[in-house]
Parts: sequence; C-alpha cells; structure tokens
Amino acid sequence: MVEHDKKTLARMLDGDLSWEELKPIVSGRKDPNRFDVIMEILQEKVPWDEKIILPLHEHLYIVLKNGERIVKCDCGFEFGDYRVNWKTKCRVRVRDTMEQIEELYLKYMGCHPDWMELREYFCPGCLTLLDTESVPPGYPTVFNFLPDIDAFYENWLGRKAPDK
Ligand SMILES: [Zn+2]
Repeated sequence: MVEHDKKTLARMLDGDLSWEELKPIVSGRKDPNRFDVIMEILQEKVPWDEKIILPLHEHLYIVLKNGERIVKCDCGFEFGDYRVNWKTKCRVRVRDTMEQIEELYLKYMGCHPDWMELREYFCPGCLTLLDTESVPPGYPTVFNFLPDIDAFYENWLGRKAPDK
C-alpha cells in the first residue's frame, strides 16, 4: 500500500499521472506522511548525498551541508546560503532589444524594451533555464521565496528541522 502510494507520488512528480489520478491526490486530504514520502522520492532522484531539507524551486533544493543550509541544483551546483538570492549566482540573459524579444513573441505581441525587459536565469552548472523575470529596466533581481524552514518543520510537521 505504502509502496504503491510512493510509486504513484513518484509518477506525479514526473508529471506522468492522468487528471483522473492526479485530482484526488492534490485536492484530497493529505496522508500524514506525504511530506516524508515526497522527500524520500526527491532524495533518491538526485545524484548527491546532502540531505534535502526543502524543495525550493524546480531543480533547486535547500540541503544541509556541513551544518549549513544551502541551495543546490539537481546537477550538483551549489548556490550557497539559502537566505541569499540564488539568482545572483546564475548566468543571466537579458532580452532588452526588440530583436531579442521578437525571438519569443510575434511582432507587437511582446513587451517594448523601453518599459520592460526579460531576464532568463540559467544554472551555471547545467545551464538549465531555472526562472525568468519580466520587469522594468533597472528593477532589482526578484527574490522569489525565503521559506521559514524552522517554523515550517515545527508548526506543520511537529518536529525540528534536520540539522545533521
Ligand atoms: Zn544545475
């Protein structure tokens, strides 16, 4: 039963479930061990050994390394302290000319570079496109999400976050 659940959840993470299979999983009451099973699946998928504390973003995890909480890509690239915006370590392509924007949008269907630019953030390790931003020129790099890891573990899971 648990084994079957884990397989189904693994297929869910891979995007392989039909809507009929997926809907009861995402909309129903969660099994009490859902978080742990998901973390087990994610840990088995990555090629490195540092313990995942929290999935952060597609391809990115907050992991425990020598007692520090750092952001790590599934390729193994380490972005450092999770409280520092991982995007500042990325390779970035800024599309701020009409020509670059029209590589993505039909003429007149995209933004005008005078008032908006597109920033694409790539992992320096595997060059996977991790995120994009459409912001006014000069706008600071957006910090997507700073989780309160200790509050999450203590208030939602009823235990302390792993520290080794
Ligand atoms: Zn990577």
